[in-house]
Amino acid sequence: MSPDEIRFNQPTLEGNEVDYVQQAVRGGHTSMNGPFAKRVTDLLTEELGAAGVLLTTSCTDALEMTAMLLSLQPGDTVIVPSFTFVSSALAYVREGARIVFADIERETLGIDPAHVAELIDDTTRAVVAVHYAGVACDLPGLGSALGDHPGVELIEDNAHGLFGRLDGRPLGSFGRMSAVSFHETKSFSCGEGGALVLNDPGDVERANVLYEKGTDRRAFEDGRVDKYTWRDTGSSFGMSDILAAYLLAQLEARQAILDKRRAVVERYHEVLAPEADALGFEVPVMPGGRDYAYHLYYVLLDGPGTRERVTAAMRAAGIRTAFHFVPLHDSEGGRRFAARGTDCPVTEEVAGRLLRLPVHNALTPADADRVCEALVTALG
Ligand SMILES: *Cc1c(COP(=O)(O)O)cnc(C)c1O
Repeated sequence: MSPDEIRFNQPTLEGNEVDYVQQAVRGGHTSMNGPFAKRVTDLLTEELGAAGVLLTTSCTDALEMTAMLLSLQPGDTVIVPSFTFVSSALAYVREGARIVFADIERETLGIDPAHVAELIDDTTRAVVAVHYAGVACDLPGLGSALGDHPGVELIEDNAHGLFGRLDGRPLGSFGRMSAVSFHETKSFSCGEGGALVLNDPGDVERANVLYEKGTDRRAFEDGRVDKYTWRDTGSSFGMSDILAAYLLAQLEARQAILDKRRAVVERYHEVLAPEADALGFEVPVMPGGRDYAYHLYYVLLDGPGTRERVTAAMRAAGIRTAFHFVPLHDSEGGRRFAARGTDCPVTEEVAGRLLRLPVHNALTPADADRVCEALVTALG
C-alpha cells in the first residue's frame, strides 16, 4: 500500500482510547460488566432513552438476543430486507424462524413498507428495519404497515444509524429492540463489539438472564435472590472491559466523529451532485426530517460493467471503493432459509449499481476531493 493510498476504512484513535485501556487492565476487572462497560451502558441508555442496554461482542450477537427474546416457534417467519448484511437474517434463522425477504424503496434504500404490508401474514412475528448509510428508513410507513398487526414486532438493525435521528427521535428507539455494531468498519468502533438496546421494560429481566449464560446472576448481584442458578437459554454475550474502555473513548468523541464524517459526506454530495446527470450516475436522496448518522456515502452508476471499470480505475489512482450488499434473497443461504421466494427488483437493481466511496474518521475533505476527481475522471 503506498503512503498516499486512500483506504476504504481505517480504525482511528479519537482521544482517550489507550489511556482507558490501560486503566481497564490495571484496574483488574477485564471481563464483562466492568466499570467501563457501566459507563458505556449509561451513556447509551441516556442518549437513546432506552429501558436497558447490554453490551455484546457483536451486533450479530445482539440480533441473536432479539431473536431469543421473541421466543420464536417452528413455523414463525421474520420479514427482513434482502438488501442488508447477512446477520439481519441469520440471527432469526438460528432460532428456528424462516425468512421472508422484502424489497427496499428507492429513496432511503430501507425496507419498503408497501412490500412489507403485502408480505405480512399470520406466521409473521417480526419485521427487521435497517437504516442504510445512517439514513432513517421509512419508519412512519412501517408504523402504518404494522399498525393492523399488533402481534408483529419491529426490530431495528441499527448497525449504521447510531446517533442518527428521525423527527428528533433517536434511531434505535423506534422498535421493541434494536442492535448496534462497534465493528472496525462502523463509525464508532472497538474492533469487534455491539449492543442490544431494549425499548420495552418488560424485556429487561429476561434479557439479563440470556446475557448471563441463562442464569439469574444479575438478580443475585442486585441482591434480589440469595444465589444464582440456571433458568433459561442464553449464551456468553458480554463485552470485555478492555474493549468497553476503548469504546467509551470513541463514544465520548461522538460529536467530533460525526462532524468529521459529515464534512466528508457533505463534500462528496456537494461536488458530485452537479456532475451526476452529465456523467450518468445518481447521488443519494437526502430526505428531510432526518439527522443523518453519516455512516457511509454511495453513488449509483449505470450498471455492474461501469462499476467494474470505475473500481479498477479508482484503485489505480490509489483509492479503494466497495459495494455492499449482495442481495440475500438471491444467495445460497437466503434461498435455503427463506419461507418462500419473493421478488425484490429494486434490491437487485441497486445492488448492481451501487458504489461506496471511502468514509472513515481519518479522511479529510481534501481526500474527498481526490476521490471525487478520480470518480469523475473514470466516468468522463
Ligand atoms: C456490520 C453490520 C452487521 C454486523 O455487525 P457485527 O458487529 O459485525 O456483528 C449487522 N447488520 C448490518 C446492517 C451491518 O452493516
